[in-house]
Amino acid sequence: MFDNTFTPEQQMLHQMVKDFTAKEVAPFDMAIDQKGDFTDGLFQKLIDNGFLGLTLPEEYGGAAFDPIATATTINDLAYGNASVGVTLEGHYKTLDQLMKYGNENIQKEYLDSANHRIFAFSNTEPSGGSNPTGISSTAVKEGNKWIINGDKVMITNGGLAEVYIILVKSGENEFSCFLIDKDMPGFSFGKREDFIGLRGTPVGEVVMNNIEVSEDHLIGKRGQGLEIADQAHDDARILMGAVLTGIMEHALKIASDYAKQRKALDTPLTDLQVIQEKIANIAISKELTKLVYQQAAIRKQNGQPYMEEAAMAKTFGSRSAVKAGDDALQVLAGYGYSREYPIEHLIRDARALEIAEGTVEKMRTAIAKAEFEK
Ligand SMILES: Cc1cc2nc3c(=O)[nH]c(=O)nc-3n(C[C@H](O)[C@H](O)[C@H](O)COP(=O)(O)OP(=O)(O)OC[C@H]3O[C@@H](n4cnc5c(N)ncnc54)[C@H](O)[C@@H]3O)c2cc1C
Repeated sequence: MFDNTFTPEQQMLHQMVKDFTAKEVAPFDMAIDQKGDFTDGLFQKLIDNGFLGLTLPEEYGGAAFDPIATATTINDLAYGNASVGVTLEGHYKTLDQLMKYGNENIQKEYLDSANHRIFAFSNTEPSGGSNPTGISSTAVKEGNKWIINGDKVMITNGGLAEVYIILVKSGENEFSCFLIDKDMPGFSFGKREDFIGLRGTPVGEVVMNNIEVSEDHLIGKRGQGLEIADQAHDDARILMGAVLTGIMEHALKIASDYAKQRKALDTPLTDLQVIQEKIANIAISKELTKLVYQQAAIRKQNGQPYMEEAAMAKTFGSRSAVKAGDDALQVLAGYGYSREYPIEHLIRDARALEIAEGTVEKMRTAIAKAEFEK
């Protein structure tokens, strides 16, 4: 654990987010899953409490927090409800790319509103998400404008987000990223996915029909799109590790609290070795996932490569969190299998992260490639 190395500012934020989660997120966890939406004005409360601007530079009204504080915030919110963590993850990873690759004009125009307008990154198309060179969306240069057409699906915050960075083909075997706004002519929202988990986070489609943008909307250089998409994935995977740690903390708390009050005849569940083993396994997986995502965040903060650690956090964390949910369910047994307890939705939520931000199969390929290159 790197928690004991937090600066006073990181520690203060950590406490503030834990308090916010306890009051504004955790009590609504079940309702968020059942309604498929953030309840009781939670989204507005996230804005009012400065969560959207957490990573933004101060000149744009943000709090300029670092990658460790950002990941810890996602972890703390996801302990209350994973969808809340994932919605902010989608926003932060997109802002990271605008801050890193956007030119001065587009940064000025869009970073100013990023503490109250949500952002999203769109890569996947109906033809598939794992192999981005197979996309069909296009940007064609006409004079000093770009004309964008295409269809993006399964976008985290799709329908909720107001600003999108999209990956398109800008030439034969050339890929570029552009920033588009929901208020542009030719932009429309399509289908929202009926996913089995992370029900509070909208994941949906964006349709682009002859959207016209200026050169300023090109994010990074022409032809740099795949690099930016990879970078967005790396940034997201750190935060996915944080979401998964939050899910495992939640499963551990429920299973542990239950074991402490339940008896098997006269024997407390806490005295049964089979129960102890499950609790210990959840605790080990939670702690290991946390160590890896924190290590990736520290490397990011120090300007060191972090692709591999971020991929490990998501790959190890996602299967571990599904297993942690399953172990917790077994501790509660019949009650664990009931929709009246949150465990079944923790499993559904965790399962999404074996797919989103790159499947675990692709993660393992990337990790192995990095190892072979050593
Ligand atoms: C909750 C959620 C949120 C999401 N949010 C976003 C988002 O914000 N933005 C966005 O752009 N997309 C998003 N996605 C889409 C996600 O990125 C894709 O689902 C994912 O990349 C896989 O693409 P696919 O579903 O088309 O599967 P496919 O690419 O069709 O893959 C099918 C299967 O084949 C395997 N496979 C395919 N190609 C390879 C390969 N080269 N090597 C090894 N195995 C391979 C895959 O691992 C998988 O098992 C989200 C998805 C989910 C579930």
